[in-house]
Amino acid sequence: MNLVLMGLPGAGKGTQAEKIVDKYGIPHISTGDMFRAAMKDETELGLKAKSFMDKGELVPDEVTIGIVHERLSKEDCKRGFLLDGFPRTVPQADALEGILFDLGKKLDYVINVQVDKDILMERLTGRRICKSCGATYHLVFNPPAQSDVCDRCGGELYQRADDNEATVNNRLEVNIKQSQPLLDFYGAKGYLKDVDGQQDIQKVFLDLDVLLSTLK
Ligand SMILES: [Zn+2]
Repeated sequence: MNLVLMGLPGAGKGTQAEKIVDKYGIPHISTGDMFRAAMKDETELGLKAKSFMDKGELVPDEVTIGIVHERLSKEDCKRGFLLDGFPRTVPQADALEGILFDLGKKLDYVINVQVDKDILMERLTGRRICKSCGATYHLVFNPPAQSDVCDRCGGELYQRADDNEATVNNRLEVNIKQSQPLLDFYGAKGYLKDVDGQQDIQKVFLDLDVLLSTLK
């Protein structure tokens, strides 16, 4: 099964990726891991990517696409793969079609773990951290007994700047804007499968499992 996994920050994509990998034994290929591996193996493309990153520049598409091509050609992708973080743009999605054609493969599904923005806001802004011992809480999912006080040590709880409403809202808006053309592209091609990510984690995976069990 050849899959692309999509979902906004906080949608629970990482958790579902782990479960898919556990059950179906296909490699989880995230962009970050792919770059790190190519650099560690010092492949020509890995070194090229490193030269851009070292200068603090974006890695050009042709290099990224080359690295994806190398990775998907490996033995462990024979039975399938779960791509995560690539493609990010329609030109990259076009390039992926070319790579797969070249390798005699085709995409089965693009899975979109769908969660409404207001729920993502709640998930992403609820984290609180203890100033004294570093314990983490979540106002909805793992609340402290007393708000703003650490259960463990009585220390004061605070919200990281990254977790505040304005920052989270901005991050979500950027991601929504970026992913929409990609969702449209895959929707038009008939690959897109929405999975309701607002259910509990086990139920989300059950739905995924039903979808994936039809694939070989
Ligand atoms: Zn504490």
